[in-house]
Amino acid sequence: MLIYVPREINALETRVALDPVSVAKLLKLGASVSIETGAGNAAGHLDADYTAAGASISTDRNSSLGSADFVIRVLPADLAEIALQKPGSMATGLMDPFGSRERIEAYAAAKVSALCSELIPRSTLAQKMDVLSSQANLAGYMSVITASEQLDSILPMMMTPAGTISPAKVFIIGVGVAGLQAIATARRLGARVEAFDTRPVVEEQVKSLGAKFVKIDIGEVGQTEQGYAKELTPEQVELQRTGMAKVCSSSDIVITTAKVFGRKAPVLLTSQMISGMRPGSIIVDLAAEGGGNVEGTVSNEEIVTDGGVRIIGWNALERKVPRHASQMFSANMFNLIEHFWDGEAKEFPLKTEDEIIKGCLLTHDGAIVHERFTS
Ligand code: NAD
Repeated sequence: MLIYVPREINALETRVALDPVSVAKLLKLGASVSIETGAGNAAGHLDADYTAAGASISTDRNSSLGSADFVIRVLPADLAEIALQKPGSMATGLMDPFGSRERIEAYAAAKVSALCSELIPRSTLAQKMDVLSSQANLAGYMSVITASEQLDSILPMMMTPAGTISPAKVFIIGVGVAGLQAIATARRLGARVEAFDTRPVVEEQVKSLGAKFVKIDIGEVGQTEQGYAKELTPEQVELQRTGMAKVCSSSDIVITTAKVFGRKAPVLLTSQMISGMRPGSIIVDLAAEGGGNVEGTVSNEEIVTDGGVRIIGWNALERKVPRHASQMFSANMFNLIEHFWDGEAKEFPLKTEDEIIKGCLLTHDGAIVHERFTS
């Protein structure tokens, strides 16, 4: 089986879908790997590192896309490039399935089997293949690092002959994978941390990290089978905003990570709430790409409000640590392939009845096959 990794074409992207360590492991399984020249540069992996790991370096993107059995990318493919893949081949990586129906149709039309990383089931078995989790962990860490760098004060308490500095107050809204890592990071840096999530099950996790769980009574919410939050009613959103306004106004840093899978992110911080925050305070909106949790967020930009609050809307903050982000992304890719690998045939047999494959397979044999996208 020939695996091809094209260079990411989005100018902001720094990650590469396979690092040299994963390439070497794939070769050991019996696969062949081809990497587009320069694909790993931004993550610190030069062509020579890939050659040393046993990959071949390709300088002809179109022909490599056309000859590969399996194309692995970080970001969703351009429609024109999907058409270059040969019928019967496979593709994986992030595919933004709710964002572009045309992309799914393009995979079906090209007769490519598309394994969508966002849809990998949230089961214990598939955890090692879960890109959303591995990248959210790093984004959560980077949200605190980025905010603390921009903040006009320090995070830990300091007792010095020149006086005592109180610890910064950090408020985390949404305690999934990114939120938990943000809490842990802010605690390590010495901040006083509060957090809120609509799923009551996270209260214990918040406390175990040494943070305070903010209690807001918004009625019944719960979570889906996959662990995702359910959408709130407009009344519940209003109750939540009221409950959070006071915490926000006394916080130096607010980090929002609240997403609802497959839907636009809920707006949880209104301009009015932000106007109650002190000048110099920081908001990091990790949901910016999906519409944002914060009124006024601009995706992939930083803005400063009239009241002097900085709102950071950078997408995929894990791109700021591309070496580790690529390492984890690559490990997820390798784990997927290794899990299904047929060592004798040296193939990735597409087991369409397997729970993991069923959960993430968008297209197969020229048709859209995923139940969420068939109608
Ligand atoms: P996510 O990125 O979809 O959302 C981030 C967080 O925002 C979630 O905790 C969600 O409950 C919260 N949220 C949504 N609306 C909100 C609102 N209005 N106000 C406040 N918070 C709100 O979620 P995620 O980080 O991907 O993970 C969610 C859960 O799934 C976690 O418990 C996680 O541990 C679990 N998970 C399990 C697996 C697995 O078993 N393989 C893998 C990944 C995640």
